[in-house]
Amino acid sequence: MNARIIDLTGQTFGRLTVIAFSHINERRYAVWTARCICGAVVAVPGMDLRSGNTQSCHCLQRDRASIAVAARHQRQRELRAALATA
Ligand SMILES: [Zn+2]
Repeated sequence: MNARIIDLTGQTFGRLTVIAFSHINERRYAVWTARCICGAVVAVPGMDLRSGNTQSCHCLQRDRASIAVAARHQRQRELRAALATA
């Protein structure tokens, strides 16, 4: 058993806050259960958290995509409103 586990409980990495130890994975790395600010709960290897590789449940990328979609919809609404009042 690998006893060298650094306790990350309560620590925050980007959007993720570690809430509990999850398990040791097949490569003998500690995997932690973390809650993202969007509410999603994900399992992330501790080394990915400490290295900064994983800073969200991937909602960062989703947010960027949905903001682009929302901006496009907003432009279409404005265009329709402009045509309706013309
Ligand atoms: Zn998230």
